[in-house]
Amino acid sequence: MKKPIIIANWKMNLSFQKTLDLTSQVKDDLSEIKDKDIIVCPSAVALSSVAGLIKNTNLKLGAQNVFWEENGAYTGETSPAVLQEIGCQYTIVGHSERRKYLGETNLMVNKKVNICLENNLTPILCIGETKDERHEGLTDNVLYHQLKECLDGVNIVDNEDIVIAYEPVWAIGSGDIAEPEEVARVFELIQQVLIDIYPLTVVKNNVRMVYGGSVDSDGAVGFSQLKLLDGFLVGGASLEINKFKEIVKSL
Ligand code: PEP
Repeated sequence: MKKPIIIANWKMNLSFQKTLDLTSQVKDDLSEIKDKDIIVCPSAVALSSVAGLIKNTNLKLGAQNVFWEENGAYTGETSPAVLQEIGCQYTIVGHSERRKYLGETNLMVNKKVNICLENNLTPILCIGETKDERHEGLTDNVLYHQLKECLDGVNIVDNEDIVIAYEPVWAIGSGDIAEPEEVARVFELIQQVLIDIYPLTVVKNNVRMVYGGSVDSDGAVGFSQLKLLDGFLVGGASLEINKFKEIVKSL
């Protein structure tokens, strides 16, 4: 197993003050952990304050989104260079909620992955099939195309990392967690696609694979034996410090 990674996606769930409070709880309880990467992803408005709170701890900062240019006339967007400047090390890209509500396409996600790497940000690339696609037996096809298109022309060199988050859309926020056996099968598929694109050393050393979708403290335990699993992307359960702690412990 590579260094485990647990990503807390707080989405747009918390007020500014509650974001700071939760950051302090995570800091009190988890910032001593060195053998796992724990990434907190607050909403954009809280990023620099959270950066200040977790400075000089083992916790790491992630953004929930980024734009595909560094600067310019792009009203309302967030620059990858500025994210890096304020202390972000990771960025979620292509989350299904952004694909659904903001019309993000694989092409946009592809540009975001590229600009992240150019700015020393590790992209957390989210892929996953919808409920309908699953029922129509299209899961593998959807994932294949998402990976191929989002990683098209993306070069990963020695010191660069990428995280692939398999997040079945039907599992996100639904309480309906995927079966570990199915996730294991999907991870094999993802690994195979990655091996088609990148040298084996890159796949082995520079790519981590996580599962996301209704992970809670009980559910996480069932995944701990999966050979290819490097961690979790956690939404709802990351808002409760005790649940989040249990998930971190499960790995
Ligand atoms: C997510 O939104 O990335 C997620 C995994 O959410 P939840 O854990 O709430 O399903």
